[in-house]
Amino acid sequence: MRIAQDLLDAIVDHARRDAPNECCGMVATDDGAAVSVHAAENTAASPFRFEVDGLELHRTLTGIEDAGYELGAIYHSHTRSEPYPSQTDVNFAANWPGVEWIIVGLANGDEPLVRSFLIDDGVITEVPVERDA
Ligand SMILES: [Zn+2]
Repeated sequence: MRIAQDLLDAIVDHARRDAPNECCGMVATDDGAAVSVHAAENTAASPFRFEVDGLELHRTLTGIEDAGYELGAIYHSHTRSEPYPSQTDVNFAANWPGVEWIIVGLANGDEPLVRSFLIDDGVITEVPVERDA
């Protein structure tokens, strides 16, 4: 997806704030471009996985749809491993066809890596994260 630097910064800031636990949230898009970032609470509060409360998820999705946008991506962080989908992510993604998986990697220290993937039927394809000015 295309995403403005300030929205990307919001995702990275959230990942740093919740470290060493994984963070998670959603990105609304309009025609493939990010329009807003919605931080969610990782109710698992774990460095190894994330869970979102069903009611919070429903409220966020409803808000995005009511604004006329779509769910473009679900983001989360990997605080100790590479920003590449785990088997848990692949399993989770089966419920969200067509939604990008943005993963923030914090394991490299100062320079967080942000990568995005489409996961379709268990097949992982990296897609570009294009910085919008
Ligand atoms: Zn993951």
